[in-house]
Amino acid sequence: MNQGEKLEFKCPKETHYGYAKFVCLNEFCTNSRIFCFECIKNGDHNTHIKYQYEIDNLFEFFDNQKKKTEELIQKLQLINVAITNQFSQLEQRLKIKCCFPTAELQKFDTQKLNQGLNQMIKYKDITKNILDDINESSNALLDQINKYTNEFTLDETDKQNQAQLKIQQVNELFLQGQKLYGIKKYEEAIEYFDEALQINPNDCQSLYLASECLTMIKNYKDAIIKADKLLQIDQNNPQYLCIKAEILRCQQRYEEAILYADKALSINSKHLFSINNKADCLKMLKKYEDAIFWADEALQIEQKNLFPLNVKSQSLKMIGQYNNAIIWANKVLFIDEDNINSLITKVECLIKIGIYNDAFIYLNTALKLYPENSTLRQLKIQLLTIQNQNNQANQSLQKIVKISPFFNQSKIKNERF
Ligand SMILES: [Zn+2]
Ligand SMILES: [Zn+2]
Repeated sequence: MNQGEKLEFKCPKETHYGYAKFVCLNEFCTNSRIFCFECIKNGDHNTHIKYQYEIDNLFEFFDNQKKKTEELIQKLQLINVAITNQFSQLEQRLKIKCCFPTAELQKFDTQKLNQGLNQMIKYKDITKNILDDINESSNALLDQINKYTNEFTLDETDKQNQAQLKIQQVNELFLQGQKLYGIKKYEEAIEYFDEALQINPNDCQSLYLASECLTMIKNYKDAIIKADKLLQIDQNNPQYLCIKAEILRCQQRYEEAILYADKALSINSKHLFSINNKADCLKMLKKYEDAIFWADEALQIEQKNLFPLNVKSQSLKMIGQYNNAIIWANKVLFIDEDNINSLITKVECLIKIGIYNDAFIYLNTALKLYPENSTLRQLKIQLLTIQNQNNQANQSLQKIVKISPFFNQSKIKNERF
């Protein structure tokens, strides 16, 4: 019901047939707070007439109460913040005045050491009492907050509302984090996920994306904690098994990563993310034929997925199938012409099969896009060296031809290459 609409309730007394048109806000009233004209005639609220209002004012009462409560919550929050701030100040001063790192002590001269000792003795008594004093006040404060909290006893409906509110809060925080994840602001996203997890430590969607974000910022230790928590909740979820495999792969723990990918695949044999993970791990373990097999499996599910296309072309290069590797690198470049991995593979293969001019063209394109890439720079040095050697070889060949015009040129070329 919206504000401004007419409120129509029946009088709760069964024998009264009129609408309840009034409310009573007297603190001690034991009659029905909503009542009709007949109730007035019966004198139900006679002893406290000044607390009676027309029912149309009801919204205003609720609204006022809501505003007052929100103000109260805000003031309580300020107290909370003030306490936290004061605590952190105390913590900082304790660190500055009473914690001398041993490494630093060694650098002290006599005067500084003397000062340090004086401070230590001066603050010894104070530090001794801090815990007891603050504990005592904190207990009193906690008792008081607890007492007030318990005044608001929750019935079943309230509990359901509270649970609903929690779900809503968690979802809102998750969505904020997800937005930031989408624009690669991983650290900020993690803050939202952590906040959601403070309300519900088992919120799987927050755990999952937090783990992803932590992997992206290379905080593998915390990423694994989140992934393990997910697996505690559901050890047979391919997605959770796969995020763990992914973190292990990033940590170069390829054999362990394959174990988790295999478990995910035993539950869902078409789990693309797991197949990709496995294919890359096999490549890193130099099991190139197996890597190609699993890359093919992935490509059967999604033929334009860049990840297995890259794994396949790189693995083909490693087993010396340079022409094939170029074909698969081209497939990647057809979809994403700036793909660094494929550009590198293509240049490397072109060098291997001696097509230096093309290698130069692709290398220069790649260097324009990624001027800082060290692999590309090394390839450039390699190509320049080859070119130099070829020029020198050509020059000496020409010298030989000049001296002996009947010398068989093709024979020398064949021997060189
Ligand atoms: Zn009535
Ligand atoms: Zn009353």
